[in-house]
Amino acid sequence: MKVLVFIELRDGKIKSSAHEALTVGAKLAGGAANLAAVLVGQASAGLAGQLAGWGADTIYAADSTDLALYNIQTFSGAVEAAIKAFSPNVVLGVASPMGRDLFPRLAARMNGAILTDLTAIEASGNGISGTKPMYSGKCLAEVATDGSVISFATIRQNVFPANKSGNGNATVTPVSAPAADGKIKTIEIRKGKSAKPDLTEASVIISGGRAMGNADNFKVLVECADVIGATVGASRAAVDSGYASHEMQVGQTGKTVNPNLYIACGISGSIQHMAGMRTSKIIVAVNTDKEAPIFGIASYGIVGDLFQVVPLLTQKFKALLK
Ligand SMILES: Cc1cc2nc3c(=O)[nH]c(=O)nc-3n(C[C@H](O)[C@H](O)[C@H](O)COP(=O)(O)OP(=O)(O)OC[C@H]3O[C@@H](n4cnc5c(N)ncnc54)[C@H](O)[C@@H]3O)c2cc1C
Repeated sequence: MKVLVFIELRDGKIKSSAHEALTVGAKLAGGAANLAAVLVGQASAGLAGQLAGWGADTIYAADSTDLALYNIQTFSGAVEAAIKAFSPNVVLGVASPMGRDLFPRLAARMNGAILTDLTAIEASGNGISGTKPMYSGKCLAEVATDGSVISFATIRQNVFPANKSGNGNATVTPVSAPAADGKIKTIEIRKGKSAKPDLTEASVIISGGRAMGNADNFKVLVECADVIGATVGASRAAVDSGYASHEMQVGQTGKTVNPNLYIACGISGSIQHMAGMRTSKIIVAVNTDKEAPIFGIASYGIVGDLFQVVPLLTQKFKALLK
């Protein structure tokens, strides 16, 4: 089958999750001739060389100063131009905030079928089948498209490995985005304050809940995070109480994360929090209440006061990592 992968950029760089989508795309396509990628953004054509060796023979690039900031109209127009040029069976991207905005619109514009936030995916005739967590992760739905129309799909970040494939040769073909009609303007994109990887891309996360007590106490987690290269997250109770900023919230109404290691400190483990982190590969919970629901999904549990346990962990990590 022919697969086109949308390559998401952030701050002029290719996001690491785009490599996960390319790896999945290469497997579905079964050969470099059937795999293409599309880059959209100012100075994006210059990034095409970085995609060599990721399995796609053709790279479409919509490169214009008008594409400096994400705009649903211009970006969907550019991807549509690549779709028309390549005629794929499947258009693949990542279930990031941008992917969640872009893919449904593309599917509607092109009368396609769409599967979102997949944690497993495979070819099924000219369509695709896959697994999608639903109802806050309480059940896994088996979903499929029948291939009678173009299929759009987004995969969950950090679930699929990223592996290079192919011989490294790729031809860059320019495509043009339609001019914005001005009905939607992106005025500014404000960046989060943290220099650490975004929660959705972090491979290690340490999160604090209501038990943190105040914003200042989060420094206990920040100190540990600095040692192990973790990004700091929070429960909604901590965010609503003003201890942490909204961008740090993990859960149903926050971010869905999938790190290799998630350390939950003073978080009870509500259904809504677990909806955002239960697929983490290893979960460590620190809680004073041995009956806390978070222990039900934790790989390792520590019953104790986080203000004693976390500094001890930090000391141990420092000793191990020096
Ligand atoms: C529609 C909806 C959407 C929601 N979306 C989200 C979401 O996206 N994310 C989210 O997190 N929540 C969400 N919630 C809120 C959710 O229901 C819970 O209220 C919230 O997750 C509780 O946060 P918590 O675990 O930090 O607090 P609590 O439930 O109050 O838990 C605090 C825990 O800390 C432990 N503790 C206390 N002191 C210490 C200490 N010194 N050391 C160690 N442990 C200690 C306690 O034993 C307790 O288990 C949502 C709710 C609704 C209704």
